[in-house]
Amino acid sequence: ALPLAELDPEVAAAVGAELHRQQSTLEMIASENFAPTAVMEVQGSVLTNKYAEGYPGRRYYGGCEHVDVIERLAIARVRELFGAEAANVQPHSGAQANAAAMFALLQPGDTILGLDLAHGGHLTHGMRLNYSGKLYDVVPYHVRETDLRVDMDEVEQLALAHRPKMIVAGWSAYPRQLDFAEFRRIADAVGAYLMVDMAHFAGLVAAGLHPNPVPYADVVTTTTHKTLGGPRGGVILSRADLAKKINSAVFPGQQGGPLEHVVAAKAVAFKVAASEEFRERQRRTLRGAKILAGRLLADDVAEAGITVLTGGTEVHLILVDLRNSELDGKQAEDRLHRIGITVNRNAVPFDPRPPMVSSGLRIGTPALATRGFGDTEFREVADIIAESLKGERPADELRTRVEKLAAAFPLYADGSRRN
Ligand code: PLP
Repeated sequence: ALPLAELDPEVAAAVGAELHRQQSTLEMIASENFAPTAVMEVQGSVLTNKYAEGYPGRRYYGGCEHVDVIERLAIARVRELFGAEAANVQPHSGAQANAAAMFALLQPGDTILGLDLAHGGHLTHGMRLNYSGKLYDVVPYHVRETDLRVDMDEVEQLALAHRPKMIVAGWSAYPRQLDFAEFRRIADAVGAYLMVDMAHFAGLVAAGLHPNPVPYADVVTTTTHKTLGGPRGGVILSRADLAKKINSAVFPGQQGGPLEHVVAAKAVAFKVAASEEFRERQRRTLRGAKILAGRLLADDVAEAGITVLTGGTEVHLILVDLRNSELDGKQAEDRLHRIGITVNRNAVPFDPRPPMVSSGLRIGTPALATRGFGDTEFREVADIIAESLKGERPADELRTRVEKLAAAFPLYADGSRRN
């Protein structure tokens, strides 16, 4: 029963260093968040020892009476949170949730429509090297070059021309809301399933700050660790009549034993997500993103050839457009990294630079909102980012401003965590 620091000092040291990194820098990767300590507590619990192949009440192992309670709680809570008829809380990740939903509803060789990766889609929506691109006949749709919004006319034309079996709506890098009703109409016109991947914006949906795709889609997948702020993992929501197929695609289709310690952590996260405190946090998340967009659309930033894609945001992230700037995505990411702000570079639609360099930055506010940031702090962060990208202020000065903000909002220090 040695503590980690004694049993394995090398791993313990790296974990300690990672904790320090999270505490001392500003996390603005749009897909990241800080899980509540209760979520981490249950993830590190004895539940990790338990095999529970199958589903509550129908397991292939003995001794599942307690994990059954937990998994039923997780299912009931997530169904209630999003108004879904059925839920599978076992997928180990968002990618796996998507794979299982597709295995359940499609045959290899079937046609799917998905948002092009280069235009903000996810790997699992049909990228060539991903299972989705290898197993299915993928027809990508795009954003319009004029306003960089998803081109629903193109979606309709492609659907009519290719008669897909499934239309996938969802994104990893897109700052606007999708028109689920229009996707439904097009899917119905060609007899396709509509799958919405709300991995990024599920927390906003839970808080009632973003349209809920559940009433429109046949199946809705999500991760639980992005705006939802729980453990790393996936969930599949569906209509009741598809539940059997989906459950069978997850187990035995894809996996053996579910990670019941993660399922329990999901249950805790869904409880948190139903709280007023969570809704208030999501409101700060959205306001923070708008503040950031507003600052980076100001004249002094525009003079450096830098702007914000689509001229703003309706979600928890913005996409900085560096196509007309001398600064490329890689340089911009490195520059912010040096002053203690973590973001990721991102290709923008119609990007002239290669993907490893790219002409965009994706910047999100969920993690800082979880840390407690409000309008005042987001204004300060936005100004620090603007000054850094303009490149006129010394990095040391900006780094000091970052450190001050980080110190004012302690993370994972006893009693100071906000979830
Ligand atoms: N779906 C979308 C829209 C995503 O952005 C992501 C993560 O980046 C995933 C699915 C995959 O989630 P995971 O990384 O848990 O496999």
